[in-house]
Amino acid sequence: MKLNLDIQPLNSWINQAGKQPLVIAGPCSAETEDQLVATAHLLAKTGKVSALRAGIWKPRTRPGEFEGIGSIGLEWLKRAKEETGLPIAVEVATAKHVEEALNAGVDILWVGARSTVNPFTVQEIADALRGVDVPVMVKNPVNPDLSLWVGALERINNAGITKLAAIHRGFSSYEKSAFRNEPMWDLAIGLKTLAPHLPIINDPSHITGNRDLIGYISQKALDLDMQGLMIESHIDPSVAWTDAAQQVTPAALADIIDHLALRKPEVRNVEVNDKLAELRSQIDKIDDLVIQKMAERMKIVEKIGNYKKDNNITILQVNRWDEILHKRTSYAKALKLSTEFTEKLLELMHSESIRKQTEIMNKSEAGQAAEKLTHV
Ligand code: PEP
Ligand code: MN
Repeated sequence: MKLNLDIQPLNSWINQAGKQPLVIAGPCSAETEDQLVATAHLLAKTGKVSALRAGIWKPRTRPGEFEGIGSIGLEWLKRAKEETGLPIAVEVATAKHVEEALNAGVDILWVGARSTVNPFTVQEIADALRGVDVPVMVKNPVNPDLSLWVGALERINNAGITKLAAIHRGFSSYEKSAFRNEPMWDLAIGLKTLAPHLPIINDPSHITGNRDLIGYISQKALDLDMQGLMIESHIDPSVAWTDAAQQVTPAALADIIDHLALRKPEVRNVEVNDKLAELRSQIDKIDDLVIQKMAERMKIVEKIGNYKKDNNITILQVNRWDEILHKRTSYAKALKLSTEFTEKLLELMHSESIRKQTEIMNKSEAGQAAEKLTHV
């Protein structure tokens, strides 16, 4: 299934002027006029930035933390734009924010992760945008829920906003990890599969929460064919009022960008394409075999299910499952497959087997007899 989003291409609303990749940068928060304007000048001077970002209304987890400088920040952004020529982007979370940002001539709006989780908030923003031609970027929700992300994009698009992009900023997770927000790349890939024309911009700053990992995540995002990066940059990160650990100076930002390798999704070189096509056809053949073998496996699972039912044996025998897991992972390891991958694959196969056997166990005798009849 594909999403029915009416979207204009990224280059119709942001002028990259040959800069690769697309970079939107600026401080997490506008703090003072000097901090914002000076950062903007240094960013513009790198020649690598296509738009300036700054939060002026900050959604904070705890009350009493710095909640953004507020509307005065719009004046500072206007000045930064006048002096550097960089288009400006801010986060909006209410209809009032939208109205004020539009009155101040803000070029790009974005919906933050804490707003995307709430359909009421997103709808309020969407209603305020009706009849306005402004680009809007929608961050993924805090929790790993693709539907909420999609729903927010649909609400904004339904309000008539066609200059639309998604921002992948990672997801909250209970498990401890090296990242502030787990990238969960498969969710971003899921969005791309549903809406291939929707640009996705990666936000390595909020994913990592750590400036040392920004280059690594940026490269990965570009390798997954994301259309750009939003990176937090502050003239002096050590004294930043918010998100200090993840901000980089404009010079460090330029260095990160310089070290990124740009790879193309498709190439024109016939030889390269032929070689790729050949390798892909090998993969296709193997995938077909894997599916065929899975179907054969399921047929045997069905037989086992019926046998267990006839002999009153429980579906799950923990020892047997442990044995499968242990034997197969060590075999897979010897074949240079990662244990994590093998375990995931086996668990998937196992849960499907259990589902099938449960179906068999719970089928009434009458149902089974009827099924047999339809098969003859
Ligand atoms: C931000 O971009 O500064 C921000 C608050 O991000 P997020 O909504 O992704 O947490
Ligand atoms: Mn931030």
